[in-house]
Amino acid sequence: MTVPATAAAAASATRTGRIERVQACMAEAGVDALLLSVGPDLPYLVGYEAMPLERLTMLVLPRSGAARLVVPRLEAMRVDAAVPAEVVAWDETDDPVALVASMVAPDAVLAIGDRTWARFVVDLQGALPSASWRRGSEVIGPVRIVKDDTEIAALETAANAVDDIAVAMRGVAFAGRSEIDVHRELAERIAAAGHQRLNFAIVAAGPNAASPHHEPGSTVIRDGDLVLCDFGGTMHGYCSDITRMYSVGEPTAEVAESYAVLRAAQETGVRAAVVGATCESVDRATRSVIEAAGLGAHFVHRTGHGIGAEEHEDPYIVAGDLRPLVPGHAFSIEPGIYVSGRYGMRLEDIVVATADGPRRLNAAPRDLAIVA
Ligand code: ZN
Ligand code: ZN
Ligand code: ZN
Repeated sequence: MTVPATAAAAASATRTGRIERVQACMAEAGVDALLLSVGPDLPYLVGYEAMPLERLTMLVLPRSGAARLVVPRLEAMRVDAAVPAEVVAWDETDDPVALVASMVAPDAVLAIGDRTWARFVVDLQGALPSASWRRGSEVIGPVRIVKDDTEIAALETAANAVDDIAVAMRGVAFAGRSEIDVHRELAERIAAAGHQRLNFAIVAAGPNAASPHHEPGSTVIRDGDLVLCDFGGTMHGYCSDITRMYSVGEPTAEVAESYAVLRAAQETGVRAAVVGATCESVDRATRSVIEAAGLGAHFVHRTGHGIGAEEHEDPYIVAGDLRPLVPGHAFSIEPGIYVSGRYGMRLEDIVVATADGPRRLNAAPRDLAIVA
């Protein structure tokens, strides 16, 4: 496939801008070189994703100057010519750890990608005993956390796709099916909607939903059950994540009341997510609605997580995080109420902080869907 010259030029300008911002962070943090291997940091910076295999792939980005990409010879042909790094291929009998070590000063301050396999970290530390080591997220995190317009558009496309699924599920029958059967349907729909990868599809019925990360199993969904569906995947490098609730038949008065509280809490949380508000204050605003209803003890997790190339990434909407929201932060607002042995519920949308206020990327109806 040939990419139009203008699109290719835009992508290359984006990457150059990202590299410059990361190098500025490195200068500020006193980091001499950034080493990136598997995980989302490398494609974010240079547009190449390392194969998660035993042969080392590693980008060596100095604080100033050009990057080098160390790759196994047999994978070098996968690297696009547009990658903004000099490709250094190594042969089967070469020592790639020694090769990377030779590219930095022996006493360098090195930041290494958080997802790098321990076998390579340990070997690199052995090859560079005088170097000091930091987490890569220290210098790439502050850049990745602020999404540009292209990234927000990608998140929105993924969000729209799961919105459609959440709506479609309002018309399907749940009763008599196992959780795993509904899980499979979600997985198929996620793929059919254009995601390249399924990340998760939690289906939790009745008391099972009181466990927020319940693994769908053979439990058969019965009449009267409240069913939690929390699902998402990755589409063109960016993640979707939505939670909606389905009631098989009319809910009990207690469930309906709790759901009204949950919905108010989620709405309050979204509205609180204005530029300048701290992550902690957004968590507080959300939580206070549930606490005021006497259900505070049943909201057992933080209010949300950042989302981008990873399902969970910075910023986390949690007590103790005093960072203010800035335009381009993208995160979930997903309060829950979990009553052990009885029922559980959660409502989740992805929100972007903008100068014009919080913008929800998900638009699927938020009322409790009554299903058969
Ligand atoms: Zn979760
Ligand atoms: Zn989430
Ligand atoms: Zn979720």
